[in-house]
Amino acid sequence: MKNGYEKTRLRLVEEQLVPRGIHDSTVLHAMATVPRHLFVEEALRPQAYGDFPLPIGEGQTISQPYIVALMTQSLALKKDDRVLEIGTGCGYQTAILATLCRQVYTVERIKSLLAKARRNFDLLQLFNILSKADDGTSGWAKHAPFDAIIVTAGGPKIPQPLVEQLADPGLMVMPVGESDAQALTVLQKNNGKLSRQIMENVRFVKLVGAHGWQAK
Ligand code: SAH
Repeated sequence: MKNGYEKTRLRLVEEQLVPRGIHDSTVLHAMATVPRHLFVEEALRPQAYGDFPLPIGEGQTISQPYIVALMTQSLALKKDDRVLEIGTGCGYQTAILATLCRQVYTVERIKSLLAKARRNFDLLQLFNILSKADDGTSGWAKHAPFDAIIVTAGGPKIPQPLVEQLADPGLMVMPVGESDAQALTVLQKNNGKLSRQIMENVRFVKLVGAHGWQAK
């Protein structure tokens, strides 16, 4: 992918990701390749590779690069995996996933954001992404089970439909906690057993839906 900012992305990998423990070479390669600046509005492009989240409209944000890399790495994706993402937003995390696995299913509740994300997928010729506008807290039963599930908005608990739609073995990552502070949680399903591991304290926008926070 030749699309500008190549050196900036390599610097991001070396300065923001490797020193903080992102070691999966496939994830580092994806972060060095996917043009993050194309996912934000033009005025914000010079800041697209900064060490912080940025607004994407509708009161939502694109996550900090390090958090995108950390969540992706925690899923230990294999080339043949099928992944469910809840919270497409601008589609940047989706694009990272799509370069690493076979098929990404992504759900976004705000239609205007999904429309923008789809334009980005077309622009980058990412053809292994299936998306829909819906409440993702109920998952996407039609395509379950998923080898991995990523939720990019914070909820009070892990939605039960997502636990059920996770394959065995399978890995899920999600920010879980209060509306203003969450713990980045990895849920592992293995031989019918569930185990949890907490990685880091984070602050995500709200997961709004039937198995998340109530819409105001
Ligand atoms: N991964 C995104 C992050 C977007 S912020 C990116 O890289 O840009 C989180 C997104 O989750 C927001 O766009 C928000 O609208 C969406 N969201 C919140 N609750 C949701 C739900 N129940 N189902 C689907 N999407 C939801």
